[in-house]
Amino acid sequence: MSETTLTPATLYIVATPIGNLSDISQRAIDILTQVDVIACEDTRHTGKLLSAFSIKNKTMSLHDHNERQRQDQVASMLQEGKTIALVSDAGTPLISDPGFHLVRHCRSLGLQVSPIPGACAAIAALSVAGLPTDRFSFEGFLPSKSGARQATLTALADESRTMVFYDAPRRAIDTVQDIVTTLGGDRYIVIARELTKTFETIHSDTAENLLAWLEQDANQLKGEMVLIIEGYKATENEISAEVINTLKLLLAEMKPKKACAIAAEIYGVKKNALYEVALGLK
Ligand code: SAM
Repeated sequence: MSETTLTPATLYIVATPIGNLSDISQRAIDILTQVDVIACEDTRHTGKLLSAFSIKNKTMSLHDHNERQRQDQVASMLQEGKTIALVSDAGTPLISDPGFHLVRHCRSLGLQVSPIPGACAAIAALSVAGLPTDRFSFEGFLPSKSGARQATLTALADESRTMVFYDAPRRAIDTVQDIVTTLGGDRYIVIARELTKTFETIHSDTAENLLAWLEQDANQLKGEMVLIIEGYKATENEISAEVINTLKLLLAEMKPKKACAIAAEIYGVKKNALYEVALGLK
C-alpha cells in the first residue's frame, strides 16, 4: 500500500480502534508514524497502541484538563508548518472525548484540520442495532445519578429518532430500570457491549425483558457499552380521528412539516407525534 503524504501545517484528527487493534487504518498508521508530534488523552495508553504497531514518535498530553492551555501551543506549532495528530484513548476523538476546543481554535485561525476516519462505538453499535438509522440522535453519556438520568430520559420521551447513548455496563440495570419508569417497559432497546472485543454482545428487546435478562447475567455488567433506544412511535390510536382527518387534508395541500405544525397548533398535539403519523399516511 502506498504511503500517505502529509500536508504541512495540518492537524490530523485520527481515529483509533475501540478494541480490536486490526481496525486501525493504514492511513492512521502512516499519519501517526510521520507527524511531528501526537497529542493524546493519555500518553501511556497511546504509548501501548504505538508500540503495538512499532511506531516510534513523540507524544504530548492533551486532555479535558489542559486542552485550553495546549491549544495555543498546538496552533503555534502548526503555524510553524509542523504536522500534529490528535488521538483519544479509543475511537474517534471529539466524540465524547477531548478535542472540540482545539479543533475550533485551529479552524478559527484558518489552520488546516483533516480527519482520518475509523472506529466510533456509537456508529458501530448503530450499524448492528437493527433500528432506523436514517435519522438518529447521539446523546453522549447518560448522567450517572438516577434523578438526573430520569430527567434526561423524560425530556427525550417524544424524540422520534433512534437515540444513541454511552453508558457504563455496571449501571445498566439502573439505567434500564429508569427507561422502564420514564419511557415504559415496551420501549425497544439495544445494548451493544464490548464491540470488536472477545465478549462482544449485541442484545435487543423491550426494556422490561432486557431488564430481566440483565438481572440474570452479571457478565453483562462488565466492560463498555453503547445503549440504543428506539424513537417514540405515536400510533394512530393515540391521536383522535378528527386530528388525523385534518392532517390528511393539510397534507394534500402542503409539505408534511408545515401540515404537522398547523395541526399541532390547532389541536395542541405534539408535532413529533403528528410527524410520525404523517409518515404513515404517505
Ligand atoms: N471517542 C469514542 C468513540 O469514538 O466511540 C468514545 C469515547 S467515550 C469516552 C467511551 C465510551 O464509548 C464508553 O464508555 C462506551 O460507552 C463507548 N465504547 C467505547 N468502546 C466501546 C466498545 N468497544 N464497545 C462498546 N462501547 C464502547
